[in-house]
Amino acid sequence: MENAIVLYPSPAIGHLISMVELGKLILNHYPSFSIKILITTLPYNSGSISPYINRVSATTNSITFHHLPTISLPHSISATHHETLAFEVQRLNNPNVHQALVSFSKDCNVRALIIDFFCTPALSVAAELKIPAYYFFTSGACCLVSFLYHPTIHRNTTKSFKDLNTDLDYPDLPPIPSTDMPKPILDRNDKAYECFLNASINLPKSAGIIVNTFESLEPKAIKTISDGLCVPDEPTPPLYCIGPLTAVDDRTNGDGGSHECLKWLDTQPSRTVVFLCFGSLGLFSSEQLKEIAVGLERSGQRFMWVVRSPPSEDKSKRFLAPPEPDLDLLLPNGFLDRTKERGLVVKSWAPQVAVLNHDSVGGFVTHCGWNSVLEAICAGVPMVGWPLYAEQRFNRVIMVEELKLALSLEESEDGFVSADEVEKRVRELMESESESESGSEDGRSVRMQVLRMKAAAEEAMSAPTVSIKADLGRWSTGWSTGRLTNRSTGN
Ligand code: UDP
Repeated sequence: MENAIVLYPSPAIGHLISMVELGKLILNHYPSFSIKILITTLPYNSGSISPYINRVSATTNSITFHHLPTISLPHSISATHHETLAFEVQRLNNPNVHQALVSFSKDCNVRALIIDFFCTPALSVAAELKIPAYYFFTSGACCLVSFLYHPTIHRNTTKSFKDLNTDLDYPDLPPIPSTDMPKPILDRNDKAYECFLNASINLPKSAGIIVNTFESLEPKAIKTISDGLCVPDEPTPPLYCIGPLTAVDDRTNGDGGSHECLKWLDTQPSRTVVFLCFGSLGLFSSEQLKEIAVGLERSGQRFMWVVRSPPSEDKSKRFLAPPEPDLDLLLPNGFLDRTKERGLVVKSWAPQVAVLNHDSVGGFVTHCGWNSVLEAICAGVPMVGWPLYAEQRFNRVIMVEELKLALSLEESEDGFVSADEVEKRVRELMESESESESGSEDGRSVRMQVLRMKAAAEEAMSAPTVSIKADLGRWSTGWSTGRLTNRSTGN
């Protein structure tokens, strides 16, 4: 019977993309295996993932997508956070996951189930069916330190992070301001907090944790986890650092033609364009959009900026993809015209990996989503961190204080960033590319560090591949050195 690995991502596009890349990596090691990806069908539209799935299906035969039946959410759910809904959706999905795994097992040996953090409820399904379950942690090892250590912090205080007003001490991480922890866990009375804590408690109970990072990027955090310092009371499962896995460079506009924004970049001088893009879910108020526009215009720098419509005032539409933005309405009068020689505004979505790898791009203002961070590192593009949601504030502290790959940005209490600040940081970042006097020392040092990490990433990607013995259902037993190094055992 054919051997299969089942991947179970949460439905956010960033998570799906890196799961698909993990699937391809596994196929490099086990060409005869098949990869089956479970797709959660949501009762609401979370942005269309179909074009992406169609593209992957058309190019990689051994990866198949299996759409689970649509989940109906009970009316009683009043989630304040996306993340609560994400956990709840995956919990309700358990019977579907069970059914899918049973049905796969009729035709193949399911060697492992690899789940996303939000799919923690599926651990019980895997246990019931005696399938080894692994986590694929889609953020970095530093973030994993904080998640694994969360139960310990929880035991040591009775206060919510939002009320602690102090820096948190995680093993071997720089001090993290408690309010920089992910929004959904700031209030320990929130349902989301309970879901995250529960997932953190379950991480060590898995057969292993696969992390999208590489040794030279986060050596301290990787060692700290492998040495068992984050989970004091029980063994830490094997840690597999398989990164940097990034999305493929997609230059098309969906119908095979080259994306217009890449043609525009072709007309710009080398490393002069700052790219502003805020992940799959990043949205700004119209006031903030105008402020960014003013800052960009004043900076005098060339730019490419992905603009989306502001979040809907209508609460029932909170989780829907925003409509196409009306740029004339959202941006200051005459802005597009005045900046047309040196700036391009792209509506809603740009092929980020291709943009970052374009020779004209020399800086990136990012929301600090982990995929974006890795993509920028692989392209050798320095960053300004402007976190918006999820674990991005935490990531920014790590990127600025620990990894020294990004400049920070000052926000007001409510997260508003002034035009002056946008102008200042964009200049600081972009002028460090030229020998200009105004380029700051910080800007130059971030640029150098990103280039060092780019080289290290290339080395990690070309590390010798290893053969993985898939025996007794424990497909990862015997993982060896190389990109699939098992840090805990050194096997
Ligand atoms: N992305 C893109 N174009 C966009 C916005 C996002 O290609 O306009 C891709 C980006 O390259 C990355 C993913 O979407 O691969 C976003 O993942 P990340 O972890 O950075 O952030 P998330 O969306 O999960 O918050």
